[in-house]
Amino acid sequence: AKISKGLSKTREQFSSQLKNIFTANVKIDDDLYEELEEILISSDIGMKSTIEIVDNLKFEIKARSIKEPEKIFPLLKEIMIAKLDEKNLDNSLNIKDNELTVILVIGVNGVGKTTTIGKLANNLEKQGKKVILAAADTFRAAAIEQLDSWAKESNTPMISHKEGSDPSAVIFDAIQSAKSNKYDVLICDTAGRLHNKKNLMNELEKINRTISTHANKANKETLLILDATTGQNAISQLREFKNVCDITGLILTKLDGTAKGGVIFPLQVELEVPVKYIGLGEGINNLEKFDSKSFVESMF
Ligand code: GDP
Repeated sequence: AKISKGLSKTREQFSSQLKNIFTANVKIDDDLYEELEEILISSDIGMKSTIEIVDNLKFEIKARSIKEPEKIFPLLKEIMIAKLDEKNLDNSLNIKDNELTVILVIGVNGVGKTTTIGKLANNLEKQGKKVILAAADTFRAAAIEQLDSWAKESNTPMISHKEGSDPSAVIFDAIQSAKSNKYDVLICDTAGRLHNKKNLMNELEKINRTISTHANKANKETLLILDATTGQNAISQLREFKNVCDITGLILTKLDGTAKGGVIFPLQVELEVPVKYIGLGEGINNLEKFDSKSFVESMF
């Protein structure tokens, strides 16, 4: 229900356009398929996925000799869900019992990184996990303060140094603290500068080295935060970040504020990185686990 509410803008656009073309006595012909293609593309589903979805639909309609337009929606849903699941990616967060998990959170400024960390900490705390935060975006004092207010709201301790200090040193301290106090999950905020790729790469490399040296037995996740309202821009951000580090999952934010929800298709299917959570609002509870079935159902 929460996903359905959060995706209302995407649904309003996608579903109302669909209903416009799939009228009661519409002829199922190439014109209809073309119109469907346009709708899928205008919902940011992307050319490649769109063509494959429509081709599959054509094939199934023929194979099952479907004549009634009302039977097409359930079939289209089924095909879209299968498309999202095509690469068999693991959409769940890799967290184990009695083992530290280090989650490195990356993404450009403004995408909702800090907010998402707050939500995720709160979500994991509610599942009974002991969570600690590392304020490793030391570039802006405001970033440390902002994370601190989320830490308080989610009742999670936070390790921070002063502005301008070495992010790896913050993470080192946080790992020591997480290990000695037997925390389950350490979530690390990082600076979101993409304009200087070499710097970013060096910084992430150093952070990764710190993690593998000092928390070598820990599970690791590297989550990239992307803002759904930026549509195609989210795709290029994923491409850029994929070039500099191993991303294990995505969190797509601000889906409540956009009709571009279809962008999840190119992100997960074409770039093959699993979406793990979606952000559906500014509040601490507006984070949901992603699963393709409820997502697609909410588009209709
Ligand atoms: P950061 O610079 O990446 O750390 O971004 P922030 O966490 O400061 O978020 C930037 C803005 O996006 C803030 O105003 C947040 O409230 C807002 N925001 C973050 N996630 C969501 C979301 O899922 N939905 C909506 N509507 N707003 C969000």
